[in-house]
Amino acid sequence: MTTADISTVFLDLDDTICRHPRSTADRLADAFNAAGVNPFFDVTDFRRWLAQVSADTRLELREKCFARIADEQGRDPADALAVARTYEDPDPTSVEFLPGAESALDRLGATHDLALVTNGGRETQTAKLEALDIADHFGALTFAGSDHAVKPDPQPFEYTLSAMGVSADETVHVGNSLRADVAGAHAAGLQSVWLEEREMAGAHDPHHTIASMHDLHEPPWM
Ligand SMILES: [Mg+2]
Repeated sequence: MTTADISTVFLDLDDTICRHPRSTADRLADAFNAAGVNPFFDVTDFRRWLAQVSADTRLELREKCFARIADEQGRDPADALAVARTYEDPDPTSVEFLPGAESALDRLGATHDLALVTNGGRETQTAKLEALDIADHFGALTFAGSDHAVKPDPQPFEYTLSAMGVSADETVHVGNSLRADVAGAHAAGLQSVWLEEREMAGAHDPHHTIASMHDLHEPPWM
């Protein structure tokens, strides 16, 4: 099969199709401010620990991450907990499209079958899809980490392939995370399209790299 035989496109949701107008960095700065603590770590530290800890609630997850960072830096754990508690979760209904994403869905949807493979809770992710009014674009919605293993586990991709009745070699997955999307797609035997972001490159080699969702208007695998 050649790359021109791609029939199906899987897409990630967060920071691929949509984003919050107020970034994680903004909300973290707000949290330090509200807690009256001088900023002692940034989003990079937060993301690094997020990948390594697990918890039942978002608050507990933040408490664990921030406490590890405080420990690492010899800071007062009380400061970490204060910041974890003042950090405000983003409102899922306030999401906005990334540039080019809405028209990319329209264009790709005319020539390919589309499915969503997103990490995140069903309720939160569904609220975003409703706010954007895009659920109808997708033949399958897979909420990895809620009903399935978390990407980069191949299981949510494999589940979606079977839900769509397609094989891995006729499917590409588009996403912004090298770790979750590119590595996950490869683990399931799919081609990958990486929406480039400032993240450490090199660990996983995407088949295609795009600078913005506008670049999907002319699919890079065609
Ligand atoms: Mg993402």
